[in-house]
Amino acid sequence: MKTKWRVPRRAGWCERIVVLAGAVALAAGCNKKPESGAPAASASGATAAGGTASATATWTPAASGTLGGSAPTTKDTGKLVFDYQPPKNPRLAQLREYVAPAEIPAVIELVNKVVALPRDVPVRTEECDQANAFYDPDRHALILCFELPEHIYKQVKALDVDDEQASKVTREAVLFSFLHELGHVMIGELELGVTGGEENVADDFATLLLIDVERPDIIESGAVAMYQLGKAGDQPKMWDEHAFGEQRFFNILCTLVGSNPETFGPRYVPAPLPVERGRRCEDEYKKKDKAWTNLLKPHAKVAL
Ligand SMILES: [Zn+2]
Repeated sequence: MKTKWRVPRRAGWCERIVVLAGAVALAAGCNKKPESGAPAASASGATAAGGTASATATWTPAASGTLGGSAPTTKDTGKLVFDYQPPKNPRLAQLREYVAPAEIPAVIELVNKVVALPRDVPVRTEECDQANAFYDPDRHALILCFELPEHIYKQVKALDVDDEQASKVTREAVLFSFLHELGHVMIGELELGVTGGEENVADDFATLLLIDVERPDIIESGAVAMYQLGKAGDQPKMWDEHAFGEQRFFNILCTLVGSNPETFGPRYVPAPLPVERGRRCEDEYKKKDKAWTNLLKPHAKVAL
């Protein structure tokens, strides 16, 4: 996505959110300054990267049109609709800031300005009796379960981090999960098709989008949570549609490194990402970025 969405360099995604959507929430988390001293993520410690500026970003409208872009081929007859439904369980009600942080409506508003959807797609919070977030193609809805942050928090705490750090990683990991599901929404609602495992493709969507909005900290938290969730399960399921959590951890970090090797290479390579993989990341990133850009172009209301 970034390849086209960031040129020419103007404002970053965060600024676009402020300007286009008037949503300050996500922008408040925008970190532009690299933190060279920030520790690396590792399987043994959930350390949050500071916001490191990649030379990036934007879903920048072209010069003409309402938002500047050409008319999408998709009928622009729907949009993402945030639908917060409070849980009945008072214990779960305390988790609102985790399952429905301010960034979610901000991202929804921006995506609605960029991508034409053929129908409304609710982004709905629910009590699910399971720790999950998912896209339901029958209901054409993205569901965020109140039980998800509880489960993630428990696994992250196993890293022996303090409550504050575990809470931060949990909150950001839920955001990553939301964006992963948004990838499924794009694939399903726009009938994009996939050329590989959809779960990996959805991780790529989330990671690429977060690269665009310059939130490597959320990417790292998402990756760390994947790792922990992967370790927490029973026997690895070889038949599962998801890659193992540990593999998702490395794949996500590789995409991040590939987006800006100069900035993120020293942080993640050779640990936790071995050089053998690290050297492939830039090429991998470019291909993924190109693929998502080309897939979304026909459905975009702005120039990608
Ligand atoms: Zn998925």
